Amino acid sequence: MPAPSHVETAIFLVLLAASAYGFWWRFGKVVRKIRAAKPDPGFSLQPIGKRIWDFFSEVMLQSKVIAQRPLPGIAHAFVFWGFCVFALVTLNHFATGVGFPFISRDGWFGRVYFDWAAVFAVCVAVSIAGLFIRRFLVRPKWLGGNVSWESGVIAFLIFNLMITYLAAFWWDSKPVWWAHTLTLLIFMPLIPHTKHLHLVLSPATVFLSRGGFSNIPPLVGDEDFGLDTGKDLTQIVALQAYSCVECGRCTEHCPAYNTGKILNPKEIALGVRSYLNEFGPASEEPLLGKYISQEAAFQCTTCGACEFQCPVGIEHLPIIIGLRRGAVNTGKWEDDYGTKLFLNLERSGNALGFSSTERQKFIDKQQFPIFDGTQEYCLWLGCMGGYDPKGREIMVDFGRVMAHLGTTYGVLRKEKCTGDPARRLGNDLVFQQLAEQNLETLAQSKVKKIVSICPHCVRTISTDWKEYGEAPPIEHHSEFMARFKDKLPQTSGPKIVYHDPCYLGRYRGVYDEPRQVLARSGQVIDPPRSRDRSFCCGAGGGLAFLGEEKGDRVSHNRAKELVATGAEVVGAACPFCNTMFRDALSAVSAAPPKLLDIAQIAAASLPKE
Ligand code: SF4
Ligand code: SF4
Repeated sequence: MPAPSHVETAIFLVLLAASAYGFWWRFGKVVRKIRAAKPDPGFSLQPIGKRIWDFFSEVMLQSKVIAQRPLPGIAHAFVFWGFCVFALVTLNHFATGVGFPFISRDGWFGRVYFDWAAVFAVCVAVSIAGLFIRRFLVRPKWLGGNVSWESGVIAFLIFNLMITYLAAFWWDSKPVWWAHTLTLLIFMPLIPHTKHLHLVLSPATVFLSRGGFSNIPPLVGDEDFGLDTGKDLTQIVALQAYSCVECGRCTEHCPAYNTGKILNPKEIALGVRSYLNEFGPASEEPLLGKYISQEAAFQCTTCGACEFQCPVGIEHLPIIIGLRRGAVNTGKWEDDYGTKLFLNLERSGNALGFSSTERQKFIDKQQFPIFDGTQEYCLWLGCMGGYDPKGREIMVDFGRVMAHLGTTYGVLRKEKCTGDPARRLGNDLVFQQLAEQNLETLAQSKVKKIVSICPHCVRTISTDWKEYGEAPPIEHHSEFMARFKDKLPQTSGPKIVYHDPCYLGRYRGVYDEPRQVLARSGQVIDPPRSRDRSFCCGAGGGLAFLGEEKGDRVSHNRAKELVATGAEVVGAACPFCNTMFRDALSAVSAAPPKLLDIAQIAAASLPKE
């Protein structure tokens, strides 16, 4: 472009200052709100290597965005990569406005770089047009009912930026330069005023995630009850709330939302944002109220599909469980089933409310060896394995498998519930009591290794108990059996559809092992939603104990999908899934497939004793 006149430079500088002010006016407020929130207890940048890798993979490579929705994901990735490439182009563009361009189209570097940027400009223009069509014409339901005008404006501005950049290749003139400049100067202040704030915040959100999956922060001191009021919101929660891009990926996979509950994980993130906008992080206004309902917070199965899917690193579970903690620990949650559950856990040490003598009778009847320190494994019964009739059948069969494999094991006399339902429902006092009592029992019994049929027990013992002490290593029975799969008989059995339990799959990353065990006894198939996209059975988060669901049942939704595969057997790997599907399969099918745990399927092929 010909060098700008002094008048043009002056006009450009005034407009640039106005645009920058418009940006900071809103962005500064957001930054101040995030900084004013309380620091996150227990937060550490370590392990830094993993953070850098996650940043590189999720932000720079856009791996999550592409993996979840390949076509729109690629389109979004091109827009992001285009922004990165255009950072230098834009700096040079502004420098041209004051008469000092530092990259010339005549030099070799300028030629190569501008051509390279032109390739991206074409990709970005095509991508943003595609995303516009998807958002405004196709409109997937999880984007919500309201058409977002701001998305349309932003899409138009990005498209215009690319077109004006490309136009300069043919007509490098002042009108084209000004068209590009004005588009840029309008675009900049719109970023923090719209959901496109994620362009600036989400790289920080991904880098500063709490780490791990559903990583529930510890309560600090006697005055910390969880997320009760604005004063309890931490900097990471505030940062995450402002980073939500409203893509609806979390909503798309949420079992509660998909079965007609009022819970919508996107609205949890946006609810925190609206709260911060209106009340701020120093407010004593309850968090559960105007923007987030208590009912919604207690409809969550803690399946983790939302947190797993979110492309900008929002950690829904610490927020949802934090809100439950705030309600339960301050006595604001009143629920007859919840009260009964907590009493059962306190008085009987199990979620089902049975006397512990019932467990002992079962152990005696089955002649389970008592753990005395000489056996290799402590076989953890859990509430379901110790008291539930179907859970007991699984335990007996898994005991047979262990015996067949020649592994020594014993069960504890004084085992109590791990506290999983109390933990997920936000009752820290009951959870702490159970964790500490169990840790003491394990230490006294000199347990070195634990194996369990329940992914909820595995998760709670291996991760949640860490707040109160170090438990012996624990593994799920699928992991144990998969290690010895070659010693299990190989039979040509029925078609088995495997249901990935949330707490084994997304929480623990165990997908192949149960399939390997099942493959010894039949032909394993997957339902449409499987592995990290598995659909919850509806029992997690303590919901198995909270009575009837509103709307469709999550278990029925999943059972229909399992039945539709035409499999003769449903393979489960969690006693809670087993409980939920027991009724659900019969409810949705006149001739339902057989429902069996992987241990039962493995035991069925063992030689008769
Ligand atoms: S954890 Fe599962 S049930 Fe809870 S909000 Fe997320 S997707 Fe929905
Ligand atoms: S919370 Fe994450 S997945 Fe859900 S709408 Fe916001 S950005 Fe998308």
